[in-house]
Amino acid sequence: MNMEKLRIAIQKSGRLSEKSVSILKEAGISVTNGARKLLSVSGSYPLEILYLRDDDIPQYVKDKVADIGIVGENVYSEKGSGINIIDRLGFSRCRLSLAIPKQESYSGPEYFEGRKIATSYPVILKQFLDEKGISAEIHEISGSVEVAPGIGLADGIFDIVSSGSTLISNGLKEVEVVMHSEAVIIGREHLPDSKQAILDDLLFRIRSVLAATNNKYILLNAPNEQLEKIIDLIPGMKSPTVMPLAESGWSSVHSVLSEDQFWQIIGELRALGAQGILVIPIEKMIV
Ligand code: ATP
Ligand code: ZN
Repeated sequence: MNMEKLRIAIQKSGRLSEKSVSILKEAGISVTNGARKLLSVSGSYPLEILYLRDDDIPQYVKDKVADIGIVGENVYSEKGSGINIIDRLGFSRCRLSLAIPKQESYSGPEYFEGRKIATSYPVILKQFLDEKGISAEIHEISGSVEVAPGIGLADGIFDIVSSGSTLISNGLKEVEVVMHSEAVIIGREHLPDSKQAILDDLLFRIRSVLAATNNKYILLNAPNEQLEKIIDLIPGMKSPTVMPLAESGWSSVHSVLSEDQFWQIIGELRALGAQGILVIPIEKMIV
């Protein structure tokens, strides 16, 4: 039996930790949470889990200490040169934006010409400024970037924004969205075959978990004269299951519906006369 294990690095404690652990658990991999450990081994799967600060994960993958990792795309873009995004995970969505004091008027990126910007993401910021042909002074700081303008350390900031409430409470306004970010799986180009086989199976499981959370099972009763239009709205994985109801003129339709367009489609189904609509969560969806 092959005893080789795949090693994944996840954030030790922070915004990515809980989701990273839960996605592994839903993929059927038993994981202890990393509170007191650096490394743990799954009892049920050939996987070792390394718990690190998120900023350190790209370097561990580059150095081959970890085979893959889960980080925010922002950290990947800042520190991930030489490694790749293997898959997107859809959680921890945020954006990286430029912000300035709210009383300032803003006409465009040239605002920053000759000014000082505080950030923890100098690489991404420099790339943006270079693309726009702007030369600004980048002041790298590691935390509490949002207080920099208030204490006179910088004219503006470049930082993570999700709701924007941190900006508002520091008297700042968002003026440019530079990148959107979500959690991603990162890895190197070439893994040994035995590890690649584990990775392929792990990705298959993770994609099935993600597909299930992004989709719902839907059952409804449709008047036969609207059946075709209703089926067009909900194609399902192949095509919907349609069965006659005991009451003549009506059919029962079963299908799968994506979360993204859920409410819009429900509205259209009701307008077409669909009744008794039931929506059921899917536990796993094999993709
Ligand atoms: P560490 O101690 O591991 O260095 P950290 O303080 O750098 O942690 P966290 O605040 O835990 O990082 O954020 C981890 C990642 O979560 C970020 O890199 C980003 O991708 C994402 N993220 C950060 N803030 C938010 C937010 N407000 N909403 C959603 N996702 C966010
Ligand atoms: Zn960090």
